[in-house]
Formats: sequence, C-alpha cells, structure tokens
Amino acid sequence: MTATGNAVLAGQREAEANKALLSGCAGPHEFRRVANGGGQGLTAQRWRCAGCGGLVNGLARLWYTNGIEHGERRAARGRAA
Ligand SMILES: [Zn+2]
Repeated sequence: MTATGNAVLAGQREAEANKALLSGCAGPHEFRRVANGGGQGLTAQRWRCAGCGGLVNGLARLWYTNGIEHGERRAARGRAA
C-alpha cells in the first residue's frame, strides 16, 4: 500500500466513523462552529455537534437547520406528517 493509499483508507474510515456518530445522535444535533475550523465559504466551514461529536460542513448544517425550522412551522400549522 502506498502512502497515498493509506491516507485514502484512513480518510474513508474517518468518514464512516463520523457518519456513525451522526446517525447515532439522539438529536436534534446542536452544531457549533469548530474554532479555526475551515474557511469562510459554507463548504469550507466545519461544525461539530455538541451532542454526538459528529462533524459537518456549513452547507450540511444550513440544510439541517432549515429542515428543523420548516418541520416546526409545519407542526405549528397542524399538518405534521
Ligand atoms: Zn448530533
């Protein structure tokens, strides 16, 4: 295995472990911006859930929080599906 191949495998294991953390969260996630994590753009930002420790980028967090807000509005209108 090359050094690059090992790095790819390590990255895949890290991604799988992160996915397991997020899936196992009791929810809702409480994303907090990682200090010095990532850049300014949404896809470069890094946010970590205070509950499960799962890591997402700013775009994933944006859609997650939009979904929570829309679900709350739907429930308030009495049309919870
Ligand atoms: Zn979580």
